[in-house]
Amino acid sequence: MRKIRAFGISEKPDDPIPGVHWCAMKIFHPLLLLCLVAAAQSPSSVRVNGQRIHEHLKDLSKFGANPQGGVSRVAYSEADLQGRQYAISLMKAAGLDIDIDLAGNIVGTHAGSDASLKPLLIGSHIDSVPMGGNYDGDVGSLSAIEIAQTLKEKQITLRHPLEVIIFQNEEGGTVGSQALGEGLDEKHLNLVSNSGKTIREGTRIVGGDPERLVSARRQPGSIAGYFELHIEQGGALEREKIDIGVVEGIVGILHSDVTIEGFANHAETTPMDQRHDALLSAARFIEKVNQIVTSVPGRQVGTVGWIKVEPGAYNVIPGKVVLGLELRDLDEEKFVSLFKQIQTEAEGLGRQNQTRFAFTDPGLSHPALTDKSFQKLIDDTARSLGFTTKVMPSGAGHDAQEIARLGPVGMIFIPSIGGISHSPKEFSRPQDIENGANVLLQAVLAFDKTH
Ligand SMILES: [Zn+2]
Repeated sequence: MRKIRAFGISEKPDDPIPGVHWCAMKIFHPLLLLCLVAAAQSPSSVRVNGQRIHEHLKDLSKFGANPQGGVSRVAYSEADLQGRQYAISLMKAAGLDIDIDLAGNIVGTHAGSDASLKPLLIGSHIDSVPMGGNYDGDVGSLSAIEIAQTLKEKQITLRHPLEVIIFQNEEGGTVGSQALGEGLDEKHLNLVSNSGKTIREGTRIVGGDPERLVSARRQPGSIAGYFELHIEQGGALEREKIDIGVVEGIVGILHSDVTIEGFANHAETTPMDQRHDALLSAARFIEKVNQIVTSVPGRQVGTVGWIKVEPGAYNVIPGKVVLGLELRDLDEEKFVSLFKQIQTEAEGLGRQNQTRFAFTDPGLSHPALTDKSFQKLIDDTARSLGFTTKVMPSGAGHDAQEIARLGPVGMIFIPSIGGISHSPKEFSRPQDIENGANVLLQAVLAFDKTH
């Protein structure tokens, strides 16, 4: 009985032992002990340390902390550099070999038992928007590190090499992950990020080499897969009381600036039937966008998010309006066809109101679908852990959409309270974070076993 006691189990027969019938134990206890030990070490029973993730989140939140709560840890700022050092210290403690790749991403590697296999990637980002929160990116990054730490403690070596990646400057346009996938061009490198530094300068600051970015790119098919845990940044999971979101893809986005030319004239002396009112056309156009987007079934969204009116006076009929049109959906064909329909309708509106519509060439961010088998793996894993799940799109961009160019990706969402994100009020419950990290851990183990 001493040995059993060492596992925290009482020798008093009337003490309940979870999952074990006392009689069975009395008769078979040496054998049972072996079973218990085996069960304790069986990969499917391994769990992350939720308290530790919580503490790491708290520690990371100090870098760039704002007095009103949340953080401003924009990429390339002093706070970002400190946060990265902190992440590196955790990754080292988790037994990972650290490398800063040419794009400035932090890559922590643990060799697998089968050197012929491609690496399995997990990770996220730790940079924030200005006045951001403590969960976007941080949850996925620190949970990925926790997976490595847990595997080390349980002495589990995966067959695949494991790479924990903290991507640089996600909030400035998925910079670090794009450098690995599509690649960055001169235009990207010259963009000024929130820190006031260009991406070129910033990439150098975080230890990358902007002159050798071509070598940072990885080949399609060079990874076994990528899993990312992230907060939902919407309110659906919380509203519907669902534990885990299985992301089916990251929506594509179409942007176009629409210019409406009319004729600015005196508001008092121009009769109503002789006006070329650009703002009136704009108002009808905005209504039309809403009608067209909602005219077909699906979850597509269309928004006119900004508008500029010239000349902008009480007594002048607006002569010119420029507005911003955005369409989003998982299906690119669908939103491109909606865009064409909007253009055609605009022409008609222009004729009716004697104004002229012109659209800039649409800027496109392509949708990135997650892998069907990864969706199923995440869904099965979450259910086997007793969680409720929902298959859902991601309206926000993530590093996973860039890594999808290199191999299959899967994303796990956990609830965001009130759907608030990019705000000091961003919050996810510790239990939800622990649940998500356990799904990530078990998905990694299941993938490793079967691929
Ligand atoms: Zn994020």
